[in-house]
Amino acid sequence: MPRPTQAFIDLAALTHNLSIVRKHAPQSRIMAILKANAYGHGLLHSANALKNADGFGLLELDAAICLRDAGYQHPILLLEGFFSTAELAILEQYRLSAVIHHAEQVAMLSASKHYNIDLFLKINTGMNRLGLAPQQFSQAIGTLIEKQYYKNITLMTHFASADEPDEEKNVLRQLQYFEAITKEYRHYPSSLANSAAIIRYPVTHADWVRPGIMLYGASPFTDKTAAELDLQPVMTLSSRIIATQDLGIGDRVGYHGLFQTAEPMRIGIVACGYADGYPRHAPTNTPVLINNQRSRLLGRVSMDMLAVDLTGIENAGLNSPVTLWGKGLGVDEVAQSAGTTSYELLCALSPRVEKTAS
Ligand code: PLP
Repeated sequence: MPRPTQAFIDLAALTHNLSIVRKHAPQSRIMAILKANAYGHGLLHSANALKNADGFGLLELDAAICLRDAGYQHPILLLEGFFSTAELAILEQYRLSAVIHHAEQVAMLSASKHYNIDLFLKINTGMNRLGLAPQQFSQAIGTLIEKQYYKNITLMTHFASADEPDEEKNVLRQLQYFEAITKEYRHYPSSLANSAAIIRYPVTHADWVRPGIMLYGASPFTDKTAAELDLQPVMTLSSRIIATQDLGIGDRVGYHGLFQTAEPMRIGIVACGYADGYPRHAPTNTPVLINNQRSRLLGRVSMDMLAVDLTGIENAGLNSPVTLWGKGLGVDEVAQSAGTTSYELLCALSPRVEKTAS
C-alpha cells in the first residue's frame, strides 16, 4: 500500500466557486488565477473545472504554454509580464497576454518587433509592489499608442488590503487614484479586483475581475468563513494514523518534547509532516479530524509525521483516516492556528503528495 497521504481535489467545488464569482460580478469577465500550480491544486484539471472562466492568469511561462498546448483558447495573462526581449516571440506565438509594469518592458517591446500582443498596463496605485507610477504610465501608454506596439490594451491595478475589515478607505483611495490616472484612457477596459474586492467592493469590478483564493474555496477574510461566503473547499489533505503510543503522566511528545501529558493518554502518529506541506509552526491544539471527529495536534510537527490526540475519538487506532484540512475542517482555521494564511498552506502542498482530482 502506498504512503497514505493524499490531496483530494474536488473539481465540482471549483466549478461551484466560479459560479459564486459570477454571482458577485455578473457584468465582468472572469480571469481565473491559476498561478503557483493553481494555488497548489494542479494546473490542468483546475483549468478544466474552470473552463467557463473568460481567461486565465498566471505568471509561469511554461504553465501558460502548457494551457495553450492543452487546447485552451482563453486569453492567458502573464501577471509579471516578460523578463527579456527573447520571450516576446514566444508570447506572440502562443497568444499570451502580458502585464507591463515597468518602463524597461516597453523598451524590450520596442526592440523585439513582436507587437501582436495583448498588454495589461499595471499602475501602482498604492501597493508599491509592481506597477507604473503615474508619470511612467503616461509615457508608457503614449509610446505604445504612438508606435502601435500592442494588439489590445487593458488597464490594471492590484489592491493591497481589500481583505482587511477596516481598510475601505485605502481600497477606495486606490480606486480613485486609478480612475484619476487613467481618466484620458477610459475607452480601454480595466481590471482591478481580487477575491476580496470581488466580494466586498462591487464598485471595483470593472471589465475583468481576477479571483484566486475564493475559487479554491478559502475565504479572503479573517472575519468571514468560506462557508458563510458559500464557497466550497476544493483541496482536502488527508492521511492516516500509522502508529499509536500509550503515554503515562509527564511523558513528552515529539522533538523537544513541546507537549507533555498531564494524565495517561493515547496518541496517534499521522503520516503527514512539513515535507508534505503541513505547517511546521502549527502549535499544539491546531484542529484535525480523526474518523471525522475533531481532535488536535500535539507537539512539534516533524518532517514526515505529526502527533494527534486520540482521547475521546471513537474507534480511533491504526489506519484511522485523518483530515488535515478540507472538507469538514476549513483550511482557514488551520492557517489561523498556525499563524499563516490559506494561500500559503495551499501553495506549499508538496509535490510528493499524490493528488487525486475528481
Ligand atoms: N491578481 C493579481 C495580480 C494577483 O497577484 C493575485 C494573487 O495574489 C490575484 C489577482 C488573486 O488574488 P486572490 O487570490 O486574493 O483572489
